[in-house]
Amino acid sequence: MCGIIAVIQNKGQVAPFLHQALKRLEYRGYDSVGITTIEKDHLFTKKDKGKIDEVHRKHNLDNLPGSIGIGHTRWATHGIPSLFNSHPHFDCDEKIAVVHNGVIDNFLELRKELAKRGHEFGSDTDTEVIPHLIEEKMKEGNTLKEAIKYATGKIEGTYAIVAMSTLESDKIVCTRNGNPLVIGRKDNTSYVSSDIPAFLPMTNNMILLLDGEIATLTTNEVVIEKLSDGAIVERDTIKISWTADQAQKGGFPHFMLKEIHEQPDAIKQTLRIRTEVFEGPAKIIEASKRVMLLAMGTSGHSAMAGRHMIASNSGIVPSFELASDFQDVMYDSITTDDCVIAITQSGETTDTITSVKYAKELGAQVIAITNVVGSSITRIADYTIITQAGPEIGVAATKTLMVQLTALAQLSIAIGERTEFRTKEYLKDRKQNLEEIPQKIARIIAIEEEKARRLANIYHNRPSFLFLGRGISIATAFEGALKLKEISYNHAEGYSAGESKHGPIALVEQDYPVIFIAPKDNTHGKVIGNIMEMKARGANIISVIEENDTDLMELSDQTFQIPAGIYHEFSPMAYVVPLQLFSYYMARRNGYDPDKPRNLAKSVTVL
Ligand code: GLU
Repeated sequence: MCGIIAVIQNKGQVAPFLHQALKRLEYRGYDSVGITTIEKDHLFTKKDKGKIDEVHRKHNLDNLPGSIGIGHTRWATHGIPSLFNSHPHFDCDEKIAVVHNGVIDNFLELRKELAKRGHEFGSDTDTEVIPHLIEEKMKEGNTLKEAIKYATGKIEGTYAIVAMSTLESDKIVCTRNGNPLVIGRKDNTSYVSSDIPAFLPMTNNMILLLDGEIATLTTNEVVIEKLSDGAIVERDTIKISWTADQAQKGGFPHFMLKEIHEQPDAIKQTLRIRTEVFEGPAKIIEASKRVMLLAMGTSGHSAMAGRHMIASNSGIVPSFELASDFQDVMYDSITTDDCVIAITQSGETTDTITSVKYAKELGAQVIAITNVVGSSITRIADYTIITQAGPEIGVAATKTLMVQLTALAQLSIAIGERTEFRTKEYLKDRKQNLEEIPQKIARIIAIEEEKARRLANIYHNRPSFLFLGRGISIATAFEGALKLKEISYNHAEGYSAGESKHGPIALVEQDYPVIFIAPKDNTHGKVIGNIMEMKARGANIISVIEENDTDLMELSDQTFQIPAGIYHEFSPMAYVVPLQLFSYYMARRNGYDPDKPRNLAKSVTVL
């Protein structure tokens, strides 16, 4: 995910507008920023690593000539955050400038081919192949638009691309496949951006661009064509009634709710990670005597679920260790036969980094799973798997949990392919099942959100909750309880349902709310037993169940229902979603801002 903005107007400098527009897009990425403009057939560029304000202080982003320009705020996927990897990227002659959002899957092949034909590259990004492909076609006498069409035929992946050239300095051309672009029009000015807030202060007239379409923007008009046959697309202008703040949140009242809704897409993006990325880690895990999952907070719950995924698909049973206590339980027993899988959303969690350094010093191999390219953990780990959630703004992790679970599921299958604990067909079927999860989660959100809001109205003033599950659902119970306490401040405890009768049941009295995570897996029968125990003490039972599980519908006061057909080791991905929504609406009902829980920070960089 990144932020793109481009504008063409008939007079005046565009750079100050581009700078302000990028600030409104900064929530989409903040690894680096760059602006390129055209004046008198020359490209002028200012770009650098860092947040927009830092780069502006250093370079004065407003001080660029020209009334046509493009800008980018980056969320790195290929190549560390650095000056050289900052967008815009250029062709060899610096006549074409391109900004890109997304991932070009086949960039390595294309880069090799282009290098063989004499192209020189200045960055490690996947993006840079695009201006060079355009360059080749323009040199053969094609227009910028024709050259971009050609490039889209060569690249595979997801993209939103915006380009301009000194050879045709009266236009901006853009196209997309899987990543957003919206167009704005006002008087003698045309805009294109990843998101509406970028140009909303200037115009609320918006035109959608869809996948497979290419648009040419001039000062007078916007022409949209189909990439396939060049047919002109007539598209109505939509009037946007949102404020800039609403638009930044995609019309949702909070980033957290937006991010919950983005989960199906975040999983899809993560499922696109090449299988080769998992091969190195799988090899190490298979060869290690001990495999330890290390993490904190919500990432810890991913690790707990990941333990089951790896065990069930590969026969290797890793342990889960809290990163904060790792050194204190290891007693320097780590050897070169050990391997740790460290999970941290930000890649900066001090507890996790400290433990990983310790494990590495004693000779362990380190595999990192993180959402941030170039973060501290990526510099320590032997292998890194970068999840594809894009930036998460809400402090309470939602979509970053989902992509960690996705990556762990992929990793568990890759390890299984090596250990042969399961047959090839079994693992193939698992992969297929994983592919179906985004659509199932979209359905859960569509159906269960309203129920979550209703239940929050009923339960918001209860002082304490128990979340119970068995097997892999203990991880879901822990996460449900964590979400509730961190944003709505109701006390909540996640517990093993099996353990609940050894203590927590003493808390239960008439109408005490107990939330059961109860998929139809091998724990189902035992969970029914635990529900009966709680009911006998007067508890209110809320269950997260497979749809039409009539036994549990009868036993529960309320249910959240999850589509059938999700394999048990992937069940936390779906079963956690209603709990995220429940916490969100509980926080709102209690009058708190779910995006900014008290005493918490997005990335915890203290021990
Ligand atoms: N893949 C490109 C890069 O790493 C674009 C990433 C983005 O969407 O921000 O530079």
